[in-house]
Amino acid sequence: MKNDAFIGADIGTGSCKVVAFDQGGTMLALQSLEYPTLYPQSGFAEQDPKVILNSLAECLKLVAAQLKNLNYQIGAIGFSSYFHSVLAVDKNNEPLTNCLVWADSRSVGLVEEIKKATPPNAWYSRTGCQLHPMYPPGKILWWKQNLPEIFNKTAKFLSIKEYIVSELFGTYLVDTSLASASGLFNFNTMTWDAEILDYVGINSRHLSEPVSSQTILRGLRPHWAAATGIDQSVPWVIGAGDGVLSSVGTGTVIPGVMTAMIGTSGALRVLSPIPRVDPKGRTWCYHLTGDMWVLGGAINSGGIVYRWFRDKFAGEFKQGTEPPPYEILNQMVDAVPLGAAGMLLLPHLSGERSPYWNANARGVLFGIGLEHNKSHLARAIIEGITYAMYSVFVALEELTGQSQEIRATGGFARSKSWLEIVSDVFGREVKVPQVLEGSAFGAAILAMVALGYLPDIQSARKMVTIGETIQPNMDNNEKYGKLFALYERIYWKLQEEFALMADLRKELTGGSKT
Ligand code: ADP
Repeated sequence: MKNDAFIGADIGTGSCKVVAFDQGGTMLALQSLEYPTLYPQSGFAEQDPKVILNSLAECLKLVAAQLKNLNYQIGAIGFSSYFHSVLAVDKNNEPLTNCLVWADSRSVGLVEEIKKATPPNAWYSRTGCQLHPMYPPGKILWWKQNLPEIFNKTAKFLSIKEYIVSELFGTYLVDTSLASASGLFNFNTMTWDAEILDYVGINSRHLSEPVSSQTILRGLRPHWAAATGIDQSVPWVIGAGDGVLSSVGTGTVIPGVMTAMIGTSGALRVLSPIPRVDPKGRTWCYHLTGDMWVLGGAINSGGIVYRWFRDKFAGEFKQGTEPPPYEILNQMVDAVPLGAAGMLLLPHLSGERSPYWNANARGVLFGIGLEHNKSHLARAIIEGITYAMYSVFVALEELTGQSQEIRATGGFARSKSWLEIVSDVFGREVKVPQVLEGSAFGAAILAMVALGYLPDIQSARKMVTIGETIQPNMDNNEKYGKLFALYERIYWKLQEEFALMADLRKELTGGSKT
């Protein structure tokens, strides 16, 4: 008799990860593949949906084969994916566009128009999503205005997960978690918001049917069963968004515990039994499952800035060699003292979400001198991303009260020095779960709950083992406090300059007018 394994299939922005666990939560297999984001124009950020689909299928195939060798059968597969993406498909499910990711800010001008045309917080107070170009309404409107021939041919506007589900199962479904983070979904009625759809110029037929994140999908299409080696009888669970699933995968499933995630983006999250919005509009509110909602704030300028530095300025450290490029960069960070010898980075390389919601914000390297080198820049990047995270942390605790515990997840948690910097900047103890693939683990746990292998989501807390606990150095915290104060001063002093540069950028690059 074979044991059951549970797979979390996580479609991240930078890579997909397919991770298998046994029923006790021990990791059995992990496969991941990176894929690129394309930046064809300033403000554009797109991915090829077929590349993502094929990468996921490849990882699934490898994990399925590993499980077979280990003599496990697949009990269930749960999906996780990044939030806020949108692509247009025709009536044959053929993509008419690339998939626009959250970092795509082409609709910044259109979103400003929506802000002027609607009462303050009118959409936010019923969707939990701020008016911001990362959300699909602005992106769909952009297609309508700039590519009407594509807009008119579109049968469905789908997130990347919906596209993959429609390819694998031939059905258009969206979990209420991804739907709740689309800016098109009303959390009071738990349906698409007719008024917003009307404004955007679409109707609910252009969107998938919202279903519970515990919905079970069966009948993988034969072509994909053959390609992945996964039997058609295996149940799949539609799952939720990666952010809220990382709360499950880190055991942050009770109120009062905060998750600090830095992957491609970055986010801080706490659980709430009801949907809640911030009177100051700094945070979002997305659904997980049942009466579990996640309040949080996310930054665009998370690990992507470190990856950008690796790819653009550290090309001599080749991927696939030992030690891996991130490890070399981490050693360079360690070699530089706190504060990067007086160099400070505002890391907003692609506009910023929480807490400022300023699509015009850009990176600022402040205090750079002739004494600085690449190592200083590496450290300034990690510290700058951490300051951006801390600015969200302050806003979130103002709304939800002081957290009893902080749990770290996402790619950054592979770096001990980065974890220490977070702990020192926040002045708090940080716990690091052993499984760093929190979203994939969360998707596997949700699948186990949906199929009755676990009684409830709260069981996740027992399945998550803490690997290490980082204690803050309060002397460092004091120094970081001064640097953070300066960081905020610089940000607030540059408001007009960010806007002026945004206009100039359009002029200089011939970018989109809207
Ligand atoms: P996603 O799920 O969005 O694809 P991940 O959670 O895998 O992202 O995180 C990827 C990011 O984590 C990278 O962009 C990088 O900034 C950071 N990262 C990954 N590995 C390391 C490492 N060894 N040291 C420091 N940072 C790392």
